[in-house]
Amino acid sequence: MPPLKSTMQDAQLTIGSLLAHGTTVHGDSEVVTATPDGSRSRTYADVGRRAAQLAHGLRDLGIDADQRVATFMWNNAEHLEAYLAIPSMGAVLHTLNIRLFPEQLVYIANHAQDRVVIVDDTLVPLFAKELPKLETVTHVLVSGPDAAAADLDSLRVTGKEVLLYEQVVADRPDTFDWPQTDERDGAAMCYTSGTTGNPKGVVYSHRSAWLHSLAVSTGNAAGLDFHDRVLPIVPMFHANAWGLAYAAIMTGASLCMPDRWLQAEPLVRFIQASRPTVSGAVPTVWNDVLSYLDGHEGVRLDSLRLILCGGSAVPISLQRGLEERHGLHIRQAWGMTETSPVASAGLVPVGVEGEAQWTYRGSQGRLLCGVEGRIVADDGSTLPWDGTAVGELEVRGPWVTGGYYHPDDAGSEAADQKFHDGWLRTGDVGTLDPLGYIRLSDRAKDVIKSGGEWISSVDLENALMGHPDVVEAAVVGIPDEKWQERPLATVVVREGATVTPEQLRAHLAGSFAKWQLPDAWAFIDQVPRTSVGKFDKKLVRRGFAEGRYDVRRVTD
Ligand code: ADP
Repeated sequence: MPPLKSTMQDAQLTIGSLLAHGTTVHGDSEVVTATPDGSRSRTYADVGRRAAQLAHGLRDLGIDADQRVATFMWNNAEHLEAYLAIPSMGAVLHTLNIRLFPEQLVYIANHAQDRVVIVDDTLVPLFAKELPKLETVTHVLVSGPDAAAADLDSLRVTGKEVLLYEQVVADRPDTFDWPQTDERDGAAMCYTSGTTGNPKGVVYSHRSAWLHSLAVSTGNAAGLDFHDRVLPIVPMFHANAWGLAYAAIMTGASLCMPDRWLQAEPLVRFIQASRPTVSGAVPTVWNDVLSYLDGHEGVRLDSLRLILCGGSAVPISLQRGLEERHGLHIRQAWGMTETSPVASAGLVPVGVEGEAQWTYRGSQGRLLCGVEGRIVADDGSTLPWDGTAVGELEVRGPWVTGGYYHPDDAGSEAADQKFHDGWLRTGDVGTLDPLGYIRLSDRAKDVIKSGGEWISSVDLENALMGHPDVVEAAVVGIPDEKWQERPLATVVVREGATVTPEQLRAHLAGSFAKWQLPDAWAFIDQVPRTSVGKFDKKLVRRGFAEGRYDVRRVTD
């Protein structure tokens, strides 16, 4: 006997269904975009109409089936329109990271076979330099309030047509006969930053984006509803702004888009004016905001009820500083481009209060339903969820990628090493505890191995950034004749403060064994950042190797 069939309808989980719901049922919600002198606003109903107009315009440019339409944009209303229109018309949205090295950008756009690219007016000079090398691009649409004044001539390259976004959407019907897409088809793609080898393409399906939005909206993650106003500071080209844009459309939460104003001062002004309730950004952004708030008495960001923070470990000192001095609650989340990205978030267990909560808030969070995790030892065996057994974190689930995009199979071998019996090898090393909280000690490639023992660079950085005179700290392994590797601490000291390596070692001594303490120290102006604003340890290691740091050796 075959199993009993359900009586449920087989509705497809598509971006088109998010668009249909968010721009009608929540047509009264709004997207606010920062401008030089304030902001501009558009209702979700308007966004829905303009998404239809954009789809007509793109169809006329020949976009059909699963062709790639790329964006080279800040977070703004037009980017949201592209997010909705492109997948809903059956094409594939490809968000390009505007801060990538030029050769990576060119590689990615060619590899993905981008046909049309939508470019923000202020990014035209950056984009124009690479356009001649983008082999498959036929059209460039320039978007933004000053698009007409941009240097359009710089984009006039043989074989490529340049148009204004507003001209493409103007005078088009404001409804579109959206096709019924298959939920398993590609909806959007995003490339990893390619710290080793060429960047790798991850293709999200409609279904994965839909389910991920649902998970992000739950109380275990961001807990969104249509009273919320969401400020994604994390770029829409960085793992789809952590799913916040689609989650906002799903729940009807309004969106506050910072466009290109990402420095602490304009951000604070935009937050005060647009009054978001939830925001998301990497720790370096919140660190800058914290310094700004500390230096400006009386400035309050009282609309924010929740800050989501991840992308790299979120120091407890940063969380405490924001909460205790400024009343801002921060929740750590963990994920990767490969996991859509949100896979865990750090809401604390029931009954955990006071100081005890920091054990959990310092963790990478509790697995969300839909993401399975396991810790795997070097020999491939699975380790217990006991909070102490350390190994590589592997995950799987409906919004975790099962492979990389490689149309020609080139590079597939290296990419396939990222998978293990259907699980994604995250490259992150740590533990799982009995309640499903992840605690990472390092990325496998950043692990410091001294005399056969691991030293956690993340723990050292967290503790160093807990020192009142330390603004930033990055710890990397450097070669050592006797121990193979020893930790080098690179430290940014608060302006006007003086602190010595001996004092910092004394500060660490309470929490670390003596052999774990860094014995090489360098005071630097800023820890180098990756294209998405994380500490770039590869550059720190290179800086050391090239003798660019004034290193002080200390032992006692
Ligand atoms: P990139 O390789 O450019 O950093 P991703 O943005 O996909 O690309 O980064 C994913 C990685 O970021 C994870 O594998 C992990 O190492 C790190 N990461 C993300 N969130 C956290 C977190 N909360 N704590 C520590 N590391 C994190």
